[in-house]
Amino acid sequence: MDNYQQKHCQQCGKELTGRTDKRFCDSYCRNTFNNQNKSEGEKVIAETHIILRRNRKILRQLSPMGKATVRKEVLDTLGYDYRFFTGIYRSRQGKYYYVCYDFAFSPINDDRGVKKVIIVQRQSYFDQYIPALWGKS
Ligand SMILES: [Zn+2]
Repeated sequence: MDNYQQKHCQQCGKELTGRTDKRFCDSYCRNTFNNQNKSEGEKVIAETHIILRRNRKILRQLSPMGKATVRKEVLDTLGYDYRFFTGIYRSRQGKYYYVCYDFAFSPINDDRGVKKVIIVQRQSYFDQYIPALWGKS
């Protein structure tokens, strides 16, 4: 592309003044253009990232001391999305922990059958676990 021919903002079409290699009038137009022209793959990545960040924020918010047991409805109310996590860990007792960056939760039913989650901080030994996706080796 010939920069000298580009005299209008690629986003809003306004005539550009100043540097001949400018493509946008300002950072607002540049950001808007780049967001609208993201590939489908980039959009999926960005949307997933938003969900994971929200999940992490909820876990962090609910476990200010790094560990907590909370009713499932509390997570539901805050908009927790259980479909998305960044890792998985299975304890020796067979309890699954769904990791979200530096936090993790494990679903439990208490002795009265109330659905709860145990929230913990991600432990380094979580990362040693490799899921047996093809059965025990
Ligand atoms: Zn513009």
